[in-house]
Amino acid sequence: MSYVFEVPPPPTVPVAGRQDVFPVRRIFCVGKNYAAHAREMGADPTREPPFFFSKPADAIVADGAPVAYPPRTANFHHEIELVVAIGARGRDVPRDAALALVFGYAVGNDFTRRDLQAAAKEKGHPWDVSKGFDESAAISAIRASGEIGHPDRGRIWLSVNGAMRQQADISDLTWKVPEIVAELSTLYTLRPGDLIYTGTPAGVGPLHRGDRVEGGIDGIGTLANVIA
Ligand code: MN
Repeated sequence: MSYVFEVPPPPTVPVAGRQDVFPVRRIFCVGKNYAAHAREMGADPTREPPFFFSKPADAIVADGAPVAYPPRTANFHHEIELVVAIGARGRDVPRDAALALVFGYAVGNDFTRRDLQAAAKEKGHPWDVSKGFDESAAISAIRASGEIGHPDRGRIWLSVNGAMRQQADISDLTWKVPEIVAELSTLYTLRPGDLIYTGTPAGVGPLHRGDRVEGGIDGIGTLANVIA
């Protein structure tokens, strides 16, 4: 069989300390998974549980790569997040077995066209154009869980041009990693190559052309991109 055009290779993410890379299959994201961020977005975290949305795999942007300021927005936001990289297939996985599916962890930035998201919320429209646009999923190198285990605490932070914007601890996650993986596996059969952006803490805000956005999670890594 031949294809009508050349099939591109899958998007990939480097794995720290290894030559081989992680091929990205799908990108899932968790919404409102830190109570303080839910509140800053006008939600009540005691009444609204977290939820899922997704981005296309080719939205991936590497650490150090420039990010083009996206079209059709005047309010382009950063969201620093812990990213879970799935390395094994699983469906209806119980919480106490969920970590066995995890290949490793990375630092991600869930870039958002906040004005388009607000319009979608108001109209009850899907979030795709506000979340799943080109270059909307920055990610650091993945640290394999075989090397670092499964960190459930550690400072998560983001700065813009050196000024701190977001600071929290991944132990503040509303749904912890085993709950996220277990819950998502009841909705989709998880497969190697899937990434899960686990939600952002409070302090989201706008980015402008020329900004240098940096972030990190203690024990996992750092991520830096310039808005071009
Ligand atoms: Mn997010």
